[in-house]
Amino acid sequence: MGFNEIIGHEREIGMLKGLIDSGRVPHAFLFAGPDGIGKKLVAGAFAAALNCASPGGGACGLCRDCAAIEGGSHPNVIVVWPLDKPVEKGGERDPLGLIRIDQIREVQSVLKYRAERGAKVVIVEGADRFMPAAANAFLKTLEEPPGGSVIILVSSRPADLLPTVVSRCRRLNFRPLPEDAVRAFLIEKKGVAPAEAGAVARLSGGSISKAADYMEGGWLQKRREVVERLLAFGPDDADEALRFAEELSKRDDLDETLDFLKSWYRDRIVVFEGAPHLIANTDMQRRMKDDRVEDFNLLCSSFWAIEEARRNIAPPRYGNRQLTMEALVLKLSGALLM
Ligand SMILES: [Zn+2]
Repeated sequence: MGFNEIIGHEREIGMLKGLIDSGRVPHAFLFAGPDGIGKKLVAGAFAAALNCASPGGGACGLCRDCAAIEGGSHPNVIVVWPLDKPVEKGGERDPLGLIRIDQIREVQSVLKYRAERGAKVVIVEGADRFMPAAANAFLKTLEEPPGGSVIILVSSRPADLLPTVVSRCRRLNFRPLPEDAVRAFLIEKKGVAPAEAGAVARLSGGSISKAADYMEGGWLQKRREVVERLLAFGPDDADEALRFAEELSKRDDLDETLDFLKSWYRDRIVVFEGAPHLIANTDMQRRMKDDRVEDFNLLCSSFWAIEEARRNIAPPRYGNRQLTMEALVLKLSGALLM
């Protein structure tokens, strides 16, 4: 993928192109910014631009070098990511895993010899997740970068990186994409209907990959079901509400569900305040009107109860998911009033 196929990040891409043109590419970069907004794509395009044989400062996307980088088989480009277990035990990519010493040894062996042409490029995804021994070994490589090599650290939690690592990198801060860019991508490239595309773009928080996940997982529909079930509970339905809470607590997408519920209450507050054009769940606007609540304080306290539940089950608290969801669903469904 070349720079010109990437959505957004014009400023960062312009800076990288300028560095290539000037022939003064630093040895190490830190690409920092939220997950799913395109940092890895830019890193891949940069690796391709540094190795593509055709002139023009970017990657042509057509030559053998570009194709090999895209396919992950170019000898100059190595990508490292956190693994659930060591390489020799069949470790697989895992966002909550760790980068291990044997991976860094492989990096070092690739960097040992200068590239015959182009540049050796190491892309480290999840660069905030090094095991201590791996971090030490990697720091040595950063301190004495082999000639003609470029190391790109990619992280959504740059505050977790060692200061000694950060200080050796040229830092680029990537920002979430504008909502309009995500919306246009969904409509033009994915054929999503405008009302739904608007809702997903708002919920995605500027992340194309999150937006794509939402679309693929049938998330729009799941989200409507959550609201319908929640709103159907009355003060006498505590047992059923508790069952629903248990069900929710076991879902893989509990985080997303809580984020969505927050956005749903936020929308209702916004409607209450007379600004319906600001709602995120544009495809559910009618449902919001049908369920108009006159109690502003109740809407606000519900919103904060969801945020509290989200924090309670997340690190570092790791609270009991089922108990947390039971308390939340009872509150939201009004069954507590019994
Ligand atoms: Zn090329």
